[in-house]
Amino acid sequence: MNLISKLKLFLGGQFGEIITGSKRFAAGDFDYRIPAGSSGELRKLSETLNYMAGEISVKMREAELRRLELEAAFRDMSEAILITDGAGVITRINPRARLLMGVKDFDAEGMRLSGLSGGPELSSAAIKALTSGLPVYFEMEPASFPGTVLSVSASPIIDNGVIGGCVLVARDITGPRKLEAMRRDFVANVSHELKTPLTAIRGCAETLLDGALEDKEHGPGFARSICEQAVRLDKLVDDLLKISYAESGQASLEKAPVELKALAEDISGGMSAILGKKKLSLANLIPAGLSVSADRDKLSQVLINLLDNAAKYDREGGRIEISAAPQEAFVKVSVRDTGPGIPAEHLPRIFERFYRVDKARSRELGGTGLGLSIVKHLVELHGGAVGVESAEGRGSAFWFTLPR
Ligand code: ADP
Repeated sequence: MNLISKLKLFLGGQFGEIITGSKRFAAGDFDYRIPAGSSGELRKLSETLNYMAGEISVKMREAELRRLELEAAFRDMSEAILITDGAGVITRINPRARLLMGVKDFDAEGMRLSGLSGGPELSSAAIKALTSGLPVYFEMEPASFPGTVLSVSASPIIDNGVIGGCVLVARDITGPRKLEAMRRDFVANVSHELKTPLTAIRGCAETLLDGALEDKEHGPGFARSICEQAVRLDKLVDDLLKISYAESGQASLEKAPVELKALAEDISGGMSAILGKKKLSLANLIPAGLSVSADRDKLSQVLINLLDNAAKYDREGGRIEISAAPQEAFVKVSVRDTGPGIPAEHLPRIFERFYRVDKARSRELGGTGLGLSIVKHLVELHGGAVGVESAEGRGSAFWFTLPR
C-alpha cells in the first residue's frame, strides 16, 4: 500500500475530495468547490483551497476583461499598430495597419516587415529600434495610399533588459498637414492682398509730400487713389471678418421663412448704379410666394455677392437673371449672366479663398477674391450646397440650394 493510499485510509474520504478539488483547480476549473468535511485540519485546508480558487477566479476574470479592453482598442483605434518579434517578424497587426499597408487577403502575422507596402522604411526603423533599444520617429507616404502622410514611431519592447520585439505605431497626419499648408497659404495671401493697396497708398502719399500737394492738376488724382485703396482695404478686412466669422463655428442662424422674390427685388433695387453704368438688364424670374427657411441677413449677403459678381463680370449691355425652383426638400436659386464665362479648368477651385481667374481684372473691379468663398460658407451653414455652370464665352450660372 503506498503512502497516499495509507493517508487516504487514515484520513478518510475528505483527503480524496481535496485531491479531486486540487486536480480540478489545476485544470482551471476555479468554480469548483471542495465539499467541506467535518475533520478540523482538513476542513481548514479545503476552505483555504476554495478561497484561493475563488480569488484566482476573480483575478482571472479581471485579467480577461483587461485583455478584451486592450483587444478592442487594438482592433478599433485609428492608429495603425504593428508588433514584431526580435527578428522583425510581425506577430500582431491591427486592421488599420492592414488597410494602410495594403495587406488584403492574407494573414500578415508571421510575415517580415519588409514584405509590406512601405516595408523598407518600416523595417529599417524597426532594425534601428531593435539594435539601439531607443525609439525611432519618422514620416512616410505608404505606396498603397499616395498622398497620405504617416507619422510613425518604432519603439523597442524591453523585458528585463532584453530587447524582445518592436511596436510600430503609425498616425495619419495628412489632415493636419493640409490644414497647416492652408494656414500658411492664407497668411501669405492675406499679406499679399494687404501689401498691394498699402504700397499704392504709400506711393501716392509720398508723391503728394514730395510736391504733388501743390500741383492743382495732378494732386487730387493721388488723393483720390489713396481714398480708393483705403476703400479696398476696408472691403478686404470686412470680407476677412465675414470669412473668419463663418468659419469660426460660432456663426448662429436666425432662421425664419424668407420670400425669395421680394428679397431679390430689394437687393437688385440697391444695384441700380452699377446696372445703369454698364447698361445691364436684370430679370427677377423667381415665382412669387416661394420661400425658404433662412437667416435673412446671411441669405442677402449670398445674393448680394452673386449679383455683384454677375454685374462686375458681365459684358456691357448684358442680361442678368435670378431664378428659383423647388427641388425636393430644397429650393435651388440661380444667378445667370451673359459675361465671359469661366474656363473649365478654373471651375473646381472657383469657390476657394482668393482664387481668381484673372487676378488683375478682379482687383481692377474692386474684388477681394473672397466673395464666392463667403457664399459657400454661408450656404453650407444653412445646410445647402453651391455650384456653378459656366463655359468660356458662354456666361455663368452660379447656383445654391437651401432647405425649404
Ligand atoms: P472677386 O472679388 O475676385 O470677384 P469672388 O470670390 O467673388 O472674388 O470670385 C472669384 C473669381 O471667380 C473672380 O475673381 C472671377 O475670376 C470669377 N467669377 C466670379 N463670378 C463670376 C462671373 N459671374 N463671371 C465670370 N467670372 C466670375
